[in-house]
Amino acid sequence: MSLESVLKNIDADRLMQTVKAVCTGERLSNEAEKASFAVMKQLFEDAGAAVRMEYHRGYVSTPDAAALTAGGRAFDCRTHPMTPSADRLEAPLVYVPLRETASADPNALAGRIVLTDGLAMEPVVRTLSEKGAVGVIFITGLFIHNMIISRVWGSPTPETMHDYVSVPVVSVSMSDGEVLRKEAARGASACVSTTVTSRWTDIPCLVAEYRHPSGNFVMVTGHNDSWHLGAMDNASGNACAIELARVFKSVLPRMKRGVRFVIWSGHSHGRYAGSTAYCDAHFEELWQHCILNINADCLGGQCASVMTESPAMASTADLARTALREAAGVTDWIGCRYSRSCDQSFWGPGVPSVFSQVSEQPPFEGAAAEAFKLMFGSGRSGGFGWWWHSVEDTPDKLDPELLKRDVTVFASALWHALCDERLPLDAEAELREFTALCRDWEKQADGALDFSVLMKRLDVLRRRLADALQQADADRANDITHRVLRALIPLSYVEGSIFFHDEALRQPPVPMLRDIGRLAGADPHLRECLLVKLRREINRLILGTDLILTELS
Ligand SMILES: [Zn+2]
Repeated sequence: MSLESVLKNIDADRLMQTVKAVCTGERLSNEAEKASFAVMKQLFEDAGAAVRMEYHRGYVSTPDAAALTAGGRAFDCRTHPMTPSADRLEAPLVYVPLRETASADPNALAGRIVLTDGLAMEPVVRTLSEKGAVGVIFITGLFIHNMIISRVWGSPTPETMHDYVSVPVVSVSMSDGEVLRKEAARGASACVSTTVTSRWTDIPCLVAEYRHPSGNFVMVTGHNDSWHLGAMDNASGNACAIELARVFKSVLPRMKRGVRFVIWSGHSHGRYAGSTAYCDAHFEELWQHCILNINADCLGGQCASVMTESPAMASTADLARTALREAAGVTDWIGCRYSRSCDQSFWGPGVPSVFSQVSEQPPFEGAAAEAFKLMFGSGRSGGFGWWWHSVEDTPDKLDPELLKRDVTVFASALWHALCDERLPLDAEAELREFTALCRDWEKQADGALDFSVLMKRLDVLRRRLADALQQADADRANDITHRVLRALIPLSYVEGSIFFHDEALRQPPVPMLRDIGRLAGADPHLRECLLVKLRREINRLILGTDLILTELS
Protein backbone atom coordinates (compact mmCIF):
# COMPACT_ATOMS: atom_id res chain seq x y z
CA MET A 1 0.00 0.00 0.00
CA SER A 2 1.55 3.29 -1.15
CA LEU A 3 0.81 6.90 -0.27
CA GLU A 4 -0.65 7.40 -3.76
CA SER A 5 -3.07 4.49 -3.42
CA VAL A 6 -4.16 5.68 0.05
CA LEU A 7 -4.90 9.15 -1.29
CA LYS A 8 -6.76 7.73 -4.29
CA ASN A 9 -8.86 5.55 -2.01
CA ILE A 10 -10.61 8.52 -0.39
CA ASP A 11 -14.15 8.69 -1.65
CA ALA A 12 -16.33 11.80 -1.91
CA ASP A 13 -19.66 9.94 -1.96
CA ARG A 14 -18.83 7.87 1.07
CA LEU A 15 -17.65 10.98 2.94
CA MET A 16 -20.97 12.69 2.22
CA GLN A 17 -22.91 9.61 3.31
CA THR A 18 -21.00 9.61 6.59
CA VAL A 19 -21.64 13.33 7.09
CA LYS A 20 -25.38 12.77 6.65
CA ALA A 21 -25.36 9.74 8.97
CA VAL A 22 -23.50 11.67 11.69
CA CYS A 23 -25.96 14.62 11.41
CA THR A 24 -28.59 13.12 13.72
CA GLY A 25 -29.83 16.53 14.92
CA GLU A 26 -28.45 19.23 17.19
CA ARG A 27 -25.91 17.28 19.23
CA LEU A 28 -25.61 18.84 22.67
CA SER A 29 -25.39 16.13 25.36
CA ASN A 30 -28.78 14.76 24.28
CA GLU A 31 -30.41 11.84 22.45
CA ALA A 32 -29.26 13.12 19.05
CA GLU A 33 -25.68 13.11 20.31
CA LYS A 34 -26.03 9.58 21.67
CA ALA A 35 -27.37 8.44 18.30
CA SER A 36 -24.51 10.14 16.47
CA PHE A 37 -21.89 8.44 18.67
CA ALA A 38 -23.60 5.09 18.02
CA VAL A 39 -23.39 5.74 14.26
CA MET A 40 -19.70 6.66 14.49
CA LYS A 41 -18.89 3.66 16.67
CA GLN A 42 -20.41 1.34 14.09
CA LEU A 43 -18.57 3.04 11.21
CA PHE A 44 -15.20 2.85 13.00
CA GLU A 45 -15.85 -0.83 13.75
CA ASP A 46 -16.77 -1.43 10.11
CA ALA A 47 -13.46 0.22 9.17
CA GLY A 48 -11.65 -2.37 11.29
CA ALA A 49 -10.43 -0.27 14.22
CA ALA A 50 -10.58 -1.34 17.87
CA VAL A 51 -13.24 0.95 19.35
CA ARG A 52 -14.07 1.86 22.92
CA MET A 53 -16.23 4.50 24.55
CA GLU A 54 -15.00 6.55 27.48
CA TYR A 55 -17.09 8.93 29.57
CA HIS A 56 -15.51 11.84 31.41
CA ARG A 57 -17.24 14.17 33.85
CA GLY A 58 -17.55 17.63 32.43
CA TYR A 59 -19.46 20.88 32.80
CA VAL A 60 -21.69 21.74 29.84
CA SER A 61 -24.35 24.33 29.21
CA THR A 62 -27.22 24.44 26.75
CA PRO A 63 -29.16 27.47 25.51
CA ASP A 64 -32.62 26.00 25.89
CA ALA A 65 -34.94 28.94 25.24
CA ALA A 66 -34.85 32.68 24.66
CA ALA A 67 -37.34 35.46 24.02
CA LEU A 68 -36.80 39.12 23.21
CA THR A 69 -39.32 41.92 22.80
CA ALA A 70 -38.81 45.62 22.16
CA GLY A 71 -41.20 48.32 21.05
CA GLY A 72 -44.09 45.90 21.27
CA ARG A 73 -42.49 43.45 18.84
CA ALA A 74 -41.00 40.00 19.40
CA PHE A 75 -37.63 39.15 17.83
CA ASP A 76 -36.15 35.81 16.95
CA CYS A 77 -33.14 35.28 19.18
CA ARG A 78 -30.88 32.67 20.74
CA THR A 79 -29.08 32.74 24.07
CA HIS A 80 -25.61 31.37 24.77
CA PRO A 81 -24.08 28.65 26.98
CA MET A 82 -22.50 29.56 30.31
CA THR A 83 -24.63 32.70 30.73
CA PRO A 84 -27.26 33.10 33.47
CA SER A 85 -30.95 32.53 32.80
CA ALA A 86 -33.26 35.54 32.96
CA ASP A 87 -36.97 35.84 33.66
CA ARG A 88 -38.46 38.86 31.91
CA LEU A 89 -35.53 41.18 32.45
CA GLU A 90 -36.78 44.58 31.32
CA ALA A 91 -34.54 47.61 30.89
CA PRO A 92 -33.94 50.56 28.55
CA LEU A 93 -32.18 49.55 25.35
CA VAL A 94 -29.00 51.35 24.28
CA TYR A 95 -26.91 50.74 21.16
CA VAL A 96 -23.13 50.89 21.50
CA PRO A 97 -21.04 50.08 18.40
CA LEU A 98 -18.61 47.29 19.15
CA ARG A 99 -15.52 49.45 18.76
CA GLU A 100 -16.90 51.88 21.35
CA THR A 101 -17.69 49.31 24.05
CA ALA A 102 -14.28 49.61 25.74
CA SER A 103 -14.44 53.41 25.95
CA ALA A 104 -18.18 53.75 26.66
CA ASP A 105 -19.19 55.86 29.66
CA PRO A 106 -20.52 53.57 32.44
CA ASN A 107 -23.22 56.17 33.21
CA ALA A 108 -24.67 55.57 29.76
CA LEU A 109 -24.77 51.80 30.28
CA ALA A 110 -25.74 51.29 33.94
CA GLY A 111 -29.05 49.49 34.31
CA ARG A 112 -29.46 49.13 30.55
CA ILE A 113 -29.59 46.29 28.06
CA VAL A 114 -26.78 47.00 25.60
CA LEU A 115 -27.15 46.24 21.91
CA THR A 116 -23.84 45.82 20.10
CA ASP A 117 -22.35 44.24 16.97
CA GLY A 118 -20.48 41.06 16.17
CA LEU A 119 -20.39 37.45 17.22
CA ALA A 120 -21.15 37.05 20.93
CA MET A 121 -17.81 37.21 22.75
CA GLU A 122 -17.04 36.83 26.42
CA PRO A 123 -14.64 39.79 26.74
CA VAL A 124 -17.28 42.15 25.29
CA VAL A 125 -19.96 40.87 27.68
CA ARG A 126 -17.55 41.21 30.60
CA THR A 127 -16.57 44.76 29.67
CA LEU A 128 -20.20 45.85 29.33
CA SER A 129 -21.39 44.16 32.52
CA GLU A 130 -18.51 45.66 34.49
CA LYS A 131 -19.79 49.03 33.31
CA GLY A 132 -23.22 48.28 34.67
CA ALA A 133 -25.07 46.76 31.70
CA VAL A 134 -27.73 44.29 32.89
CA GLY A 135 -27.99 42.38 29.62
CA VAL A 136 -26.30 42.22 26.21
CA ILE A 137 -27.74 41.68 22.73
CA PHE A 138 -25.37 40.90 19.85
CA ILE A 139 -26.24 41.64 16.23
CA THR A 140 -24.49 38.68 14.65
CA GLY A 141 -24.78 37.83 10.94
CA LEU A 142 -27.27 37.06 8.18
CA PHE A 143 -28.41 34.29 10.53
CA ILE A 144 -28.02 34.03 14.29
CA HIS A 145 -24.59 32.61 15.13
CA ASN A 146 -24.17 30.49 18.23
CA MET A 147 -21.19 31.16 20.46
CA ILE A 148 -20.19 30.11 23.97
CA ILE A 149 -19.58 32.84 26.52
CA SER A 150 -16.80 31.53 28.72
CA ARG A 151 -13.14 32.19 29.42
CA VAL A 152 -12.87 29.02 31.49
CA TRP A 153 -11.05 26.40 29.38
CA GLY A 154 -12.77 23.07 29.95
CA SER A 155 -14.57 22.34 33.19
CA PRO A 156 -14.10 24.71 36.11
CA THR A 157 -11.97 24.20 39.24
CA PRO A 158 -12.67 25.85 42.61
CA GLU A 159 -10.44 28.70 41.38
CA THR A 160 -12.41 29.28 38.18
CA MET A 161 -15.94 28.23 39.13
CA HIS A 162 -17.03 31.85 39.51
CA ASP A 163 -15.32 33.15 36.35
CA TYR A 164 -18.51 33.18 34.27
CA VAL A 165 -20.38 36.29 33.16
CA SER A 166 -23.26 37.46 35.32
CA VAL A 167 -25.65 39.01 32.80
CA PRO A 168 -27.96 37.32 30.27
CA VAL A 169 -26.94 37.43 26.62
CA VAL A 170 -28.87 36.88 23.39
CA SER A 171 -27.98 37.19 19.71
CA VAL A 172 -30.17 38.35 16.83
CA SER A 173 -29.74 38.47 13.05
CA MET A 174 -28.57 41.60 11.28
CA SER A 175 -32.00 42.41 9.85
CA ASP A 176 -33.57 42.29 13.33
CA GLY A 177 -30.56 44.14 14.69
CA GLU A 178 -31.35 47.01 12.36
CA VAL A 179 -34.90 47.29 13.77
CA LEU A 180 -33.60 47.04 17.34
CA ARG A 181 -31.15 49.87 16.72
CA LYS A 182 -34.07 52.08 15.69
CA GLU A 183 -35.97 51.06 18.83
CA ALA A 184 -32.90 51.94 20.94
CA ALA A 185 -32.60 55.31 19.17
CA ARG A 186 -36.16 56.21 20.09
CA GLY A 187 -35.63 55.24 23.73
CA ALA A 188 -37.51 51.92 23.84
CA SER A 189 -37.04 49.28 26.51
CA ALA A 190 -36.26 45.64 25.79
CA CYS A 191 -37.43 42.57 27.65
CA VAL A 192 -35.22 39.47 27.69
CA SER A 193 -36.03 35.97 28.95
CA THR A 194 -33.51 33.15 28.67
CA THR A 195 -33.25 29.57 29.86
CA VAL A 196 -29.70 28.25 30.03
CA THR A 197 -29.10 24.88 31.65
CA SER A 198 -25.55 24.48 32.96
CA ARG A 199 -24.80 21.10 34.48
CA TRP A 200 -22.28 18.33 35.08
CA THR A 201 -22.62 15.35 32.79
CA ASP A 202 -20.75 12.31 31.44
CA ILE A 203 -19.17 13.56 28.22
CA PRO A 204 -18.84 10.78 25.65
CA CYS A 205 -15.49 10.22 24.01
CA LEU A 206 -15.04 7.66 21.25
CA VAL A 207 -11.59 6.13 20.90
CA ALA A 208 -10.83 4.05 17.78
CA GLU A 209 -7.35 2.70 17.43
CA TYR A 210 -4.74 0.82 15.43
CA ARG A 211 -2.11 0.11 18.05
CA HIS A 212 1.62 -0.26 17.49
CA PRO A 213 3.87 -2.38 19.71
CA SER A 214 5.92 0.71 20.68
CA GLY A 215 2.86 2.18 22.37
CA ASN A 216 3.56 5.45 20.54
CA PHE A 217 0.68 6.96 18.64
CA VAL A 218 -0.54 9.87 16.53
CA MET A 219 -3.93 11.28 17.55
CA VAL A 220 -6.54 12.35 15.03
CA THR A 221 -9.06 14.38 17.00
CA GLY A 222 -12.30 16.30 16.60
CA HIS A 223 -15.56 17.18 18.26
CA ASN A 224 -18.96 15.72 17.45
CA ASP A 225 -21.26 18.08 19.37
CA SER A 226 -22.81 20.71 17.13
CA TRP A 227 -24.86 23.83 16.70
CA HIS A 228 -27.98 22.76 14.83
CA LEU A 229 -27.13 20.03 12.30
CA GLY A 230 -23.47 20.95 12.25
CA ALA A 231 -22.74 19.33 8.89
CA MET A 232 -19.55 21.29 8.34
CA ASP A 233 -18.92 21.93 12.04
CA ASN A 234 -18.13 19.16 12.67
CA ALA A 235 -19.70 16.14 10.94
CA SER A 236 -17.14 16.85 8.21
CA GLY A 237 -14.28 16.32 10.68
CA ASN A 238 -15.91 13.14 12.00
CA ALA A 239 -16.32 11.83 8.46
CA CYS A 240 -12.65 12.62 7.84
CA ALA A 241 -11.58 10.54 10.89
CA ILE A 242 -13.81 7.62 9.87
CA GLU A 243 -12.56 7.70 6.27
CA LEU A 244 -8.94 7.76 7.50
CA ALA A 245 -9.66 4.78 9.76
CA ARG A 246 -11.01 2.96 6.71
CA VAL A 247 -8.16 3.72 4.30
CA PHE A 248 -5.34 3.29 6.84
CA LYS A 249 -6.39 -0.20 7.88
CA SER A 250 -4.33 -1.59 5.01
CA VAL A 251 -1.36 0.65 5.92
CA LEU A 252 -1.01 -1.13 9.27
CA PRO A 253 2.04 -3.26 8.28
CA ARG A 254 3.96 -0.13 7.25
CA MET A 255 3.19 1.95 10.33
CA LYS A 256 6.12 2.91 12.55
CA ARG A 257 3.70 4.07 15.22
CA GLY A 258 0.01 3.65 15.99
CA VAL A 259 -2.96 5.91 15.29
CA ARG A 260 -5.69 6.81 17.74
CA PHE A 261 -8.87 8.53 16.56
CA VAL A 262 -10.49 10.43 19.42
CA ILE A 263 -13.88 12.12 19.04
CA TRP A 264 -15.48 13.92 21.95
CA SER A 265 -18.41 16.11 22.88
CA GLY A 266 -18.28 19.24 25.08
CA HIS A 267 -16.52 21.48 22.55
CA SER A 268 -19.33 23.85 21.58
CA HIS A 269 -21.28 23.87 24.84
CA GLY A 270 -18.48 23.07 27.31
CA ARG A 271 -15.66 25.31 26.05
CA TYR A 272 -13.50 22.30 25.13
CA ALA A 273 -14.58 20.31 28.21
CA GLY A 274 -14.33 17.03 26.25
CA SER A 275 -10.77 17.47 24.95
CA THR A 276 -9.67 18.90 28.31
CA ALA A 277 -11.12 15.93 30.22
CA TYR A 278 -9.44 13.53 27.80
CA CYS A 279 -6.12 15.30 28.45
CA ASP A 280 -6.62 15.22 32.22
CA ALA A 281 -7.57 11.52 32.18
CA HIS A 282 -4.63 10.46 29.99
CA PHE A 283 -2.00 13.06 30.85
CA GLU A 284 0.87 10.69 31.60
CA GLU A 285 0.19 8.52 28.55
CA LEU A 286 -0.02 11.57 26.29
CA TRP A 287 3.26 12.89 27.66
CA GLN A 288 5.00 9.53 27.25
CA HIS A 289 3.58 8.31 23.97
CA CYS A 290 1.60 10.85 21.96
CA ILE A 291 3.73 12.03 19.04
CA LEU A 292 1.34 14.42 17.33
CA ASN A 293 -2.23 15.75 17.45
CA ILE A 294 -3.96 16.22 14.09
CA ASN A 295 -7.23 18.05 14.73
CA ALA A 296 -9.98 17.95 12.08
CA ASP A 297 -12.67 20.63 12.21
CA CYS A 298 -14.82 22.36 9.58
CA LEU A 299 -13.69 20.74 6.34
CA GLY A 300 -14.98 20.84 2.78
CA GLY A 301 -17.15 23.98 2.88
CA GLN A 302 -18.57 25.21 -0.41
CA CYS A 303 -16.20 27.65 -2.13
CA ALA A 304 -13.54 27.07 0.55
CA SER A 305 -10.66 27.94 -1.75
CA VAL A 306 -8.24 29.57 0.71
CA MET A 307 -5.76 26.88 1.76
CA THR A 308 -2.87 29.00 2.96
CA GLU A 309 -3.98 29.80 6.49
CA SER A 310 -4.30 26.56 8.43
CA PRO A 311 -2.75 26.49 11.90
CA ALA A 312 0.49 24.65 12.64
CA MET A 313 3.45 24.88 14.98
CA ALA A 314 7.02 25.61 13.88
CA SER A 315 7.77 21.91 14.36
CA THR A 316 4.81 20.81 12.21
CA ALA A 317 4.94 23.52 9.51
CA ASP A 318 6.92 21.35 7.10
CA LEU A 319 4.46 18.51 7.57
CA ALA A 320 1.54 20.86 6.84
CA ARG A 321 3.31 22.27 3.79
CA THR A 322 4.12 18.80 2.46
CA ALA A 323 0.58 17.48 2.94
CA LEU A 324 -1.06 20.51 1.34
CA ARG A 325 1.31 20.36 -1.63
CA GLU A 326 1.06 16.61 -2.10
CA ALA A 327 -2.69 16.34 -1.72
CA ALA A 328 -4.02 19.67 -2.99
CA GLY A 329 -1.21 21.22 -5.01
CA VAL A 330 -0.93 24.17 -2.60
CA THR A 331 2.48 25.82 -2.99
CA ASP A 332 1.95 29.14 -1.17
CA TRP A 333 0.97 27.97 2.32
CA ILE A 334 1.69 30.56 5.01
CA GLY A 335 0.03 29.04 8.06
CA CYS A 336 -0.69 30.67 11.37
CA ARG A 337 0.23 30.08 14.99
CA TYR A 338 -2.50 28.42 17.06
CA SER A 339 -4.70 30.72 19.08
CA ARG A 340 -6.58 29.53 22.17
CA SER A 341 -9.21 27.57 20.22
CA CYS A 342 -9.46 24.44 18.03
CA ASP A 343 -9.60 22.06 21.05
CA GLN A 344 -5.89 22.67 21.67
CA SER A 345 -6.00 21.09 25.12
CA PHE A 346 -2.76 19.10 24.78
CA TRP A 347 -0.03 21.71 25.07
CA GLY A 348 0.47 20.91 28.78
CA PRO A 349 1.77 17.39 28.05
CA GLY A 350 3.72 18.95 25.16
CA VAL A 351 1.97 17.31 22.22
CA PRO A 352 2.82 18.99 18.88
CA SER A 353 -0.19 19.92 16.79
CA VAL A 354 -1.08 20.42 13.16
CA PHE A 355 -4.24 21.62 11.42
CA SER A 356 -7.81 21.98 12.53
CA GLN A 357 -9.31 23.45 9.39
CA VAL A 358 -7.31 23.35 6.16
CA SER A 359 -9.60 25.45 3.95
CA GLU A 360 -11.46 28.71 4.43
CA GLN A 361 -13.64 31.11 2.46
CA PRO A 362 -12.13 33.88 0.32
CA PRO A 363 -12.25 37.29 2.03
CA PHE A 364 -15.61 38.99 1.52
CA GLU A 365 -17.01 42.42 2.14
CA GLY A 366 -20.26 43.73 3.57
CA ALA A 367 -21.82 43.95 6.99
CA ALA A 368 -21.73 40.21 7.65
CA ALA A 369 -17.98 40.24 6.97
CA GLU A 370 -17.39 42.60 9.88
CA ALA A 371 -18.60 40.04 12.40
CA PHE A 372 -16.37 37.39 10.87
CA LYS A 373 -13.28 39.56 10.67
CA LEU A 374 -13.34 39.86 14.44
CA MET A 375 -13.27 36.10 14.70
CA PHE A 376 -10.97 35.16 11.84
CA GLY A 377 -8.44 37.90 12.17
CA SER A 378 -5.87 37.49 9.43
CA GLY A 379 -7.84 39.33 6.76
CA ARG A 380 -6.44 36.89 4.20
CA SER A 381 -9.50 34.67 4.53
CA GLY A 382 -13.21 35.07 5.13
CA GLY A 383 -13.36 32.38 7.78
CA PHE A 384 -15.81 29.53 7.74
CA GLY A 385 -18.74 30.69 5.63
CA TRP A 386 -21.95 32.51 6.47
CA TRP A 387 -23.66 29.29 7.58
CA TRP A 388 -21.09 28.50 10.30
CA HIS A 389 -22.60 28.06 13.81
CA SER A 390 -26.07 28.74 12.42
CA VAL A 391 -29.22 26.85 11.51
CA GLU A 392 -27.91 26.85 7.92
CA ASP A 393 -24.98 24.48 8.62
CA THR A 394 -26.60 21.65 6.64
CA PRO A 395 -25.00 18.98 4.37
CA ASP A 396 -25.70 21.02 1.22
CA LYS A 397 -23.12 23.59 2.44
CA LEU A 398 -20.40 21.02 1.85
CA ASP A 399 -18.85 20.50 -1.55
CA PRO A 400 -18.17 16.74 -1.89
CA GLU A 401 -15.07 17.31 -4.03
CA LEU A 402 -13.64 19.91 -1.65
CA LEU A 403 -14.39 17.65 1.30
CA LYS A 404 -12.50 14.88 -0.47
CA ARG A 405 -9.64 17.31 -1.18
CA ASP A 406 -9.42 18.33 2.49
CA VAL A 407 -9.56 14.76 3.78
CA THR A 408 -6.81 13.86 1.31
CA VAL A 409 -4.63 16.56 2.91
CA PHE A 410 -5.22 14.94 6.32
CA ALA A 411 -4.44 11.53 4.83
CA SER A 412 -1.12 12.77 3.49
CA ALA A 413 -0.16 14.30 6.86
CA LEU A 414 -1.20 11.13 8.67
CA TRP A 415 0.73 8.93 6.24
CA HIS A 416 3.99 10.79 6.92
CA ALA A 417 3.35 10.89 10.66
CA LEU A 418 2.76 7.12 10.74
CA CYS A 419 5.08 5.75 8.06
CA ASP A 420 8.14 7.99 7.75
CA GLU A 421 11.25 6.41 9.23
CA ARG A 422 12.15 9.75 10.79
CA LEU A 423 9.29 11.64 12.44
CA PRO A 424 8.20 14.51 10.19
CA LEU A 425 8.54 16.92 13.12
CA ASP A 426 11.19 19.62 13.29
CA ALA A 427 12.42 20.17 16.85
CA GLU A 428 15.15 22.52 15.63
CA ALA A 429 12.58 24.77 13.94
CA GLU A 430 10.51 24.85 17.14
CA LEU A 431 13.64 25.84 19.08
CA ARG A 432 14.61 28.49 16.51
CA GLU A 433 11.13 30.01 16.73
CA PHE A 434 11.17 29.92 20.54
CA THR A 435 14.58 31.62 20.63
CA ALA A 436 13.41 34.33 18.23
CA LEU A 437 10.28 34.91 20.33
CA CYS A 438 12.37 35.27 23.50
CA ARG A 439 14.61 37.74 21.66
CA ASP A 440 11.51 39.76 20.69
CA TRP A 441 10.43 39.90 24.33
CA GLU A 442 13.97 40.90 25.38
CA LYS A 443 13.88 43.76 22.90
CA GLN A 444 10.49 44.86 24.14
CA ALA A 445 11.73 44.81 27.76
CA ASP A 446 14.30 47.41 26.61
CA GLY A 447 17.06 46.51 29.06
CA ALA A 448 14.78 46.24 32.10
CA LEU A 449 15.26 42.46 32.38
CA ASP A 450 18.32 40.23 32.20
CA PHE A 451 17.89 37.65 29.45
CA SER A 452 21.59 36.77 29.19
CA VAL A 453 21.47 33.42 31.01
CA LEU A 454 18.39 32.29 29.08
CA MET A 455 19.83 33.30 25.71
CA LYS A 456 23.14 31.56 26.45
CA ARG A 457 21.32 28.37 27.46
CA LEU A 458 19.25 28.47 24.27
CA ASP A 459 22.40 28.88 22.24
CA VAL A 460 23.99 25.82 23.87
CA LEU A 461 20.77 23.88 23.41
CA ARG A 462 20.62 24.77 19.71
CA ARG A 463 24.14 23.43 19.10
CA ARG A 464 23.67 20.34 21.25
CA LEU A 465 20.37 19.49 19.54
CA ALA A 466 21.86 19.85 16.06
CA ASP A 467 24.81 17.60 17.03
CA ALA A 468 22.60 15.01 18.70
CA LEU A 469 20.23 14.77 15.73
CA GLN A 470 23.09 14.55 13.25
CA GLN A 471 24.72 11.63 15.06
CA ALA A 472 21.52 9.74 15.82
CA ASP A 473 19.97 6.84 13.93
CA ALA A 474 16.23 7.14 13.17
CA ASP A 475 15.03 5.65 16.46
CA ARG A 476 17.28 7.84 18.56
CA ALA A 477 16.45 10.93 16.47
CA ASN A 478 12.74 10.27 16.92
CA ASP A 479 13.19 9.87 20.66
CA ILE A 480 15.16 13.13 20.88
CA THR A 481 12.58 14.96 18.78
CA HIS A 482 9.74 13.73 20.97
CA ARG A 483 11.51 14.57 24.24
CA VAL A 484 12.62 18.01 23.13
CA LEU A 485 9.22 18.98 21.74
CA ARG A 486 7.26 17.84 24.76
CA ALA A 487 9.43 20.07 26.95
CA LEU A 488 9.64 23.00 24.55
CA ILE A 489 5.99 23.32 23.50
CA PRO A 490 4.77 24.17 27.02
CA LEU A 491 7.44 26.91 27.28
CA SER A 492 6.28 28.42 24.00
CA TYR A 493 2.52 27.95 24.44
CA VAL A 494 1.55 27.65 28.13
CA GLU A 495 1.36 30.48 30.64
CA GLY A 496 0.36 28.73 33.86
CA SER A 497 0.84 25.20 35.14
CA ILE A 498 1.08 22.50 32.48
CA PHE A 499 -1.46 20.45 34.48
CA PHE A 500 -4.11 23.16 34.29
CA HIS A 501 -5.39 24.95 31.23
CA ASP A 502 -4.89 28.62 30.44
CA GLU A 503 -7.97 30.75 29.88
CA ALA A 504 -9.77 30.71 26.54
CA LEU A 505 -8.60 34.23 25.71
CA ARG A 506 -6.12 35.67 23.25
CA GLN A 507 -2.58 34.88 24.30
CA PRO A 508 0.75 36.08 22.91
CA PRO A 509 3.55 33.63 22.05
CA VAL A 510 5.63 32.64 25.11
CA PRO A 511 2.75 33.80 27.28
CA MET A 512 4.81 33.53 30.50
CA LEU A 513 6.42 36.82 29.40
CA ARG A 514 3.23 38.60 28.38
CA ASP A 515 3.51 41.17 31.20
CA ILE A 516 6.50 42.71 29.43
CA GLY A 517 3.80 44.31 27.31
CA ARG A 518 2.53 46.17 30.40
CA LEU A 519 5.86 47.69 31.45
CA ALA A 520 5.69 50.77 29.24
CA GLY A 521 2.37 52.01 30.57
CA ALA A 522 2.91 51.07 34.23
CA ASP A 523 3.31 53.52 37.12
CA PRO A 524 6.61 53.13 39.06
CA HIS A 525 5.21 50.79 41.74
CA LEU A 526 3.38 48.53 39.29
CA ARG A 527 6.47 48.48 37.08
CA GLU A 528 8.59 47.14 39.97
CA CYS A 529 5.93 44.51 40.75
CA LEU A 530 5.83 43.43 37.10
CA LEU A 531 9.62 43.15 37.01
CA VAL A 532 9.61 40.90 40.11
CA LYS A 533 7.12 38.59 38.42
CA LEU A 534 8.94 38.62 35.11
CA ARG A 535 12.33 37.74 36.68
CA ARG A 536 10.65 34.67 38.16
CA GLU A 537 9.08 33.78 34.81
CA ILE A 538 12.49 34.05 33.11
CA ASN A 539 13.83 31.63 35.77
CA ARG A 540 11.06 29.19 34.77
CA LEU A 541 12.19 29.45 31.16
CA ILE A 542 15.88 28.99 32.09
CA LEU A 543 15.12 25.90 34.13
CA GLY A 544 12.83 24.56 31.40
CA THR A 545 15.70 24.97 28.93
CA ASP A 546 18.12 23.26 31.35
CA LEU A 547 15.76 20.29 31.63
CA ILE A 548 15.77 19.93 27.83
CA LEU A 549 19.58 19.93 27.91
CA THR A 550 19.56 17.04 30.38
CA GLU A 551 17.31 15.10 27.96
CA LEU A 552 20.11 15.32 25.40
CA SER A 553 22.91 14.13 27.67
ZN1 LIG B 1 -15.86 22.99 15.24
